Amino acid sequence: MRLVLIGPPGAGKGTQAAILGTALGIPHVSTGDLFREHVGGRTPLGRRAAEYLDAGALVPDDVTNAMVRERLAAPDTGQGFLLDGFPRTTAQADVLAELLAADGHRLDAVVEFDVPEDVVIERLLNRGRTDDTAQVIRHRQQIYRSQTAPLLSYYEELLLTIRATGPVEDIAEQALDALYAVRERREAWSTARSTAPRAT
Ligand code: AMP
Repeated sequence: MRLVLIGPPGAGKGTQAAILGTALGIPHVSTGDLFREHVGGRTPLGRRAAEYLDAGALVPDDVTNAMVRERLAAPDTGQGFLLDGFPRTTAQADVLAELLAADGHRLDAVVEFDVPEDVVIERLLNRGRTDDTAQVIRHRQQIYRSQTAPLLSYYEELLLTIRATGPVEDIAEQALDALYAVRERREAWSTARSTAPRAT
C-alpha cells in the first residue's frame, strides 16, 4: 500500500507510522527523520536544511523533493510505503503524484490524524526536541494550518480521518481497521477487473 499520513506536528504521526508500517509490512519514510539524519551527519544537504528545521520553517522544495525522490527509488519501497511528513504542501503533493505516476502507481489512502491544537502543543512542550521551543512550536502549527491543511481537501477522495486522542494502541487499531478495509476494496476491485469479460 502507498500511504500518506497527515496531521499537525505533535499528532503522533511518527509513533503511528512505526506501528502501521510494521503491521502492513511497508517501510516508514519520515522526511523529518531523514533531515535530522542529514543534519546529524553534517552532509551538504544537512547543512542546508539545519536552519529551516531550527526555525520550524519548511525546507525548500528543491532539497526536499530530491531527497524524497531518492528515498522512494530505493528497492524497499517497491511494495509500498508510509510517508510521514511529506507532502506538506499541495505543490509537494503534485510532485508526489508525478513520481508515482511515472511508475504506474498512485496513492491508496491518506490518513489524517485529527487532534485539537491545544493537545498537540501540550504534547510538543513535553517532548523536548530542539525544534520544540514554544515559539518554534507556534510557528510550525501556523505553517501546518496555512500550508499543509489544504491537503485535506486536495486528498478528499482518499482521506481516512482518525481521531487521534487517547491511547496509542486504540488510535493504531482505528487506523488499521480503516486501512484493511481500503486494502480489501482494492483487492476485490482488481479481482473483478481481471475476471470480467473483455469488451469486444
Ligand atoms: P517533522 O519531524 O515531520 O516534524 O519535521 C521536522 C522539520 O523537518 C520540519 O519542521 C521542517 O523543517 C522539515 N521538514 C520535514 N518534512 C518536510 C517537508 N515535506 N517539506 C519541507 N520541510 C520539511
